[in-house]
Amino acid sequence: MPELPEVETIRAQLAPRLVGRTLTHVEILDPRLTRPYDLFEVAEELEADCVDAVERRGKYLVLRLESGRALLIHLRMTGSFGFTPATHERAVLELDDGSRLAYRDVRRFGTWLVLERADVEPYLAAKNGPEPLGPRFTVAWLAARLAARRAPVKTVLLDQRVVAGLGNIYADEALWRARVNPLRAAHFLTPDEVARVHRAIRAALRTGIERQGSTLRDYSTPDGTEGSMQDEFRVYGRDGEPCSRCRTTISKTRVGGRGTWFCPRCQPLPES
Ligand SMILES: [Zn+2]
Repeated sequence: MPELPEVETIRAQLAPRLVGRTLTHVEILDPRLTRPYDLFEVAEELEADCVDAVERRGKYLVLRLESGRALLIHLRMTGSFGFTPATHERAVLELDDGSRLAYRDVRRFGTWLVLERADVEPYLAAKNGPEPLGPRFTVAWLAARLAARRAPVKTVLLDQRVVAGLGNIYADEALWRARVNPLRAAHFLTPDEVARVHRAIRAALRTGIERQGSTLRDYSTPDGTEGSMQDEFRVYGRDGEPCSRCRTTISKTRVGGRGTWFCPRCQPLPES
């Protein structure tokens, strides 16, 4: 599933090719993409509008349109964009420069939602906490969110209202960097541990953006290049391999139903 660095990479590649372009023809091929709204009505709302900006909020791509409307795209499991024809196309945007941008989605969990100007911020704010690389994501804010929850710290970090854009990969990587076990009860973290988690989240996400995201099964970028973050994973998917810090074998467990990787020595469970 694309997380903040993957969505940010897609945004950065789409922006120069979409901004200033008019959507001359919009074809939506899968009713699941726009439900409960009719796919023909959504396509009609988008057609002939011009793209003012391509933004990202958490894991949402936000196409700001000249009319004031915005198209909010969530890629979920397997959504992606490409400028060359491909299988599993669910929507096609034709632009006034003759280019053709296809939205592809094998598992079909992705969503497209068109909102009027006044509805965009309330919608995004209800679903997303502060941007982890922005000024509102402070240690104090994270400390307050963690102190209020008895759930495992990883579960709290995956809540998009706590940290927008963080998902399974970067949560595991951040907790390894912070030397905090993913199963630790969130409200038991010390102030020092919270500060380490805060710093580690930012570091893991920045590394992911620098590497243009991680290229796993279902992620590809609009221009067809591949991210290389998977080469930087310290724990994610590395069970049975030695920890790069202490050489202890990486373990795999489940937290809130999600596969979770950690180093049992660097990330101990003190309260058990
Ligand atoms: Zn270790």
